[in-house]
Amino acid sequence: MKEVQIDPMSLERLAGLLDPKRAELLMSRAELARRLLDGRSIWNVNATASGGGVAEMLTTLLAYSRGADVDARWLVLDGNPEFFRLTKRLHNLLHGSAGDGGAMGDAEREVYESVLASNSESLNEHVKEGDIVLLHDPQTAGLVEGLQGSGAKVIWRCHIGKDTTDEQTDLGWEFLKPYLQHCDGVIFSRAAYVPEWVDEETLRLIPPSLDPFSTKNADLRKADGEATLRCAGLVDLAEGDGRLTFERRDGSEGTVRPHEDLFAAGSVIPGDARLVMQVSRWDRLKDMTGVLKSFVDHLDRFPADVHLALVGPEVSGVSDDPEGAEVLEECVALWEELPAEHQERVHLVALPMDDVDENAHMVNALQHHATVVVQKSLVEGFGLTVTEPMWKGKPVVASKVGGIQDQIVDGTSGLLLDDPEDLEGFADLLVRVLEDEELAAELGRKARERVREMFLGDRHLIQYVQLFAELLEL
Ligand code: UDP
Repeated sequence: MKEVQIDPMSLERLAGLLDPKRAELLMSRAELARRLLDGRSIWNVNATASGGGVAEMLTTLLAYSRGADVDARWLVLDGNPEFFRLTKRLHNLLHGSAGDGGAMGDAEREVYESVLASNSESLNEHVKEGDIVLLHDPQTAGLVEGLQGSGAKVIWRCHIGKDTTDEQTDLGWEFLKPYLQHCDGVIFSRAAYVPEWVDEETLRLIPPSLDPFSTKNADLRKADGEATLRCAGLVDLAEGDGRLTFERRDGSEGTVRPHEDLFAAGSVIPGDARLVMQVSRWDRLKDMTGVLKSFVDHLDRFPADVHLALVGPEVSGVSDDPEGAEVLEECVALWEELPAEHQERVHLVALPMDDVDENAHMVNALQHHATVVVQKSLVEGFGLTVTEPMWKGKPVVASKVGGIQDQIVDGTSGLLLDDPEDLEGFADLLVRVLEDEELAAELGRKARERVREMFLGDRHLIQYVQLFAELLEL
């Protein structure tokens, strides 16, 4: 296992964004956490240090915890391609999709258990009596057993799920259930995701949150965002007086680099284009191909200055996601079939992952620059890619699935697509928001308020402290 080093971040900064009562509550819970967790460590274990919502959240929640003098740590498990193929299949099954269609039998259990057995040894070298271990997502469920007898409290947190069960979800949960019998706590993002056999006593519902000061979400002057997009080679903008520097998560300064191979298909985005954009991993369930089809099939309904950007990580960069290259290829294949005048208006962007802070800053600049942000997922655990543009005051058009429904109040803080497969309905919503600037501005304003109210880190951290207090019976 590899430890990810996280520098502390002061809670005061977050408290400054909250009304006084809320800030006071946060500081008093931080004080309680300090007392409660004195001499203990909180070990988080997941499958990747970058790429995806869990890594995004661990980065900031750990920084705040460490800023509050809590010894929160992060370990990333070691896997191999066979293990990650299997856990991606499991991930897809829990979302109701067969994924690569492979089996989930004894041979798969053997792969899963043998990889986790060696990780378990390494984990046990770190964990001491009285510690708390937070295992994230299906890749880590098999570590619960090995922690029995360690004297640590073990919590398994599942960030994914589907609103309704089906044959695929049953198959996925059948595989995982035996590993989850001895957890002290189990956390889900929404009630609908919880399998019926989960013991109510151990269950907590904790939705994710966003950090307004992270490199991904920090306020950005228009000129600085534009300088970033121009220098990186993403958008064709005139040179201005914007800065190319940004604050890294450790507080140091980074500088945007020019990049050459950002476009998997399409050319540099014109500076005067109004951008409809989806940022996602190249995961089939995010339905990048559906967004592309809906856009080009209804292109005559969008004004000529409207362009589409599908943005994801460069595909070799996310080690636990073997599906990425395939999905990007599918998007490129669709793009190649388009007539030239349609190709001009569609841009497939693969952002480098070699510098996660620069990646986050580029996503930030793109989200600030976009006119409308979309998330047409077929299923979605929570969808930080919805929270992020909402915080930036952007109108968001997204599918009415999973955690997206908890974030967007339809017609108030964004627009929801009832049936995520409805390509025409999706285009209708886009037209509505592109044609009505007042509506777009109002949706964006309400979106930011909604995130401030419900999805900032204080609520998340307080829920954790409450759970730890209950588990430690103090
Ligand atoms: N993301 C990123 N770079 C990319 C694509 C995605 O940093 O090229 C981030 C995105 O901004 C968000 C996270 O990955 O913070 C995705 O989280 P989400 O909850 O939306 O979905 P998940 O990937 O966990 O299914």
